[in-house]
Amino acid sequence: MSLRIDLHCHSTASDGTLTPAELVTAGAAAGLDVMAITDHDTTGGWAAAAATLPAGMRLVRGAELSCRWHGVRPAISLHLLAYLFDPDDPALTAAMLELRDDREQRAERIVDLLRADGVPITWDEVYGYAAGGSVGRPHIAQALIRAGLVGSTDEAFASAWLGARYFVPKSDLDVFDGVAAVRAAGGVTVFAHPRATKRGRVVPDELIAELADAGLFGLEADHEDHSPAEREQIRALAGRLGLVVTGSSDFHGTHKTVRLGAFQTAPEVYEKIVATATGVPVLG
Ligand code: AMP
Ligand code: ZN
Ligand code: FE
Ligand code: FE
Repeated sequence: MSLRIDLHCHSTASDGTLTPAELVTAGAAAGLDVMAITDHDTTGGWAAAAATLPAGMRLVRGAELSCRWHGVRPAISLHLLAYLFDPDDPALTAAMLELRDDREQRAERIVDLLRADGVPITWDEVYGYAAGGSVGRPHIAQALIRAGLVGSTDEAFASAWLGARYFVPKSDLDVFDGVAAVRAAGGVTVFAHPRATKRGRVVPDELIAELADAGLFGLEADHEDHSPAEREQIRALAGRLGLVVTGSSDFHGTHKTVRLGAFQTAPEVYEKIVATATGVPVLG
């Protein structure tokens, strides 16, 4: 029987709604054999997930780094999945700390903009929803839902709200610095949802080729934000560049509708990631 592998999942350490312990338990219940915890800009969920790992489940410890490509104006933001890196690497920890600080300042600015227009939410409320984890727009969405202004997280991301009118960019990590920092910490990088146009502008293939030269390991092809045609384009590009392709749910609990294991990664790709990384081992 082939392993069921989901390499992109969020917990309450960032903007997921299950705690790390609940996440790995839900993964086992969903029939997964391998799952990665990839919270935004933090390893804060690693210990709790490891401590509650169900029998038979293998845990790939990772993170999703907020990055930016400065090759065009304005710069394009993108997400880099980082796997099995040393969580104590000084440069990478400092970079993630800066990213989390920036997330807080940016969310506070968004809340200020909303309040200036009379929206009855507060920074305390939003900060409370984040509960010590990396703050993200889904936490602001939660406040907008509570205030009765939108009916869902998806609606809160529409252009009338967090998608454009009340959008404030994060500063983010230069994507080449991100790839280099993860590699220096013994980790492996995979470009998350590289063709997700619904999230904004996407980068050209030329950049992905440059990232491959800089040590990028893979591209996430099977993701709910990609059409079947986009998934095929990514597979073809990965083939040309010698990159692996992954598939993952990008599970966020009730902040999204996608289920754990909805998209999966091939066992041989998982084995390649594990064989290449030197930061920390897979657990379980
Ligand atoms: P942020 O990281 O603060 O910029 O917020 C973006 C995060 O919100 C991403 O991790 C998305 O996965 C999540 N998210 C949840 N629902 C949506 C949506 N409808 N559109 C875009 N992002 C969403
Ligand atoms: Zn997220
Ligand atoms: Fe992402
Ligand atoms: Fe994600």
